[in-house]
Amino acid sequence: MMKLYICPDCQELRLASRRAEVACPRCGKQKLPLTRLTFLEYSEMSDEKRQEYARIQAKKIKKKGVREEAEDD
Ligand SMILES: [Zn+2]
Repeated sequence: MMKLYICPDCQELRLASRRAEVACPRCGKQKLPLTRLTFLEYSEMSDEKRQEYARIQAKKIKKKGVREEAEDD
């Protein structure tokens, strides 16, 4: 099962199978937080929606300092 991770620094979304540590492919940030988005939900989103989702989640994570898991709206 693929999980979706997000980099709060550069808003990069990364799909990866669930494992302990996922790094950002762009900036190399370690231990990216997991989003609650499922692979199915992600696959049905347009690029525009993905960017919007990433922007909102990254902002929330930065604001709250959430490291373990991003929150839904
Ligand atoms: Zn990054």
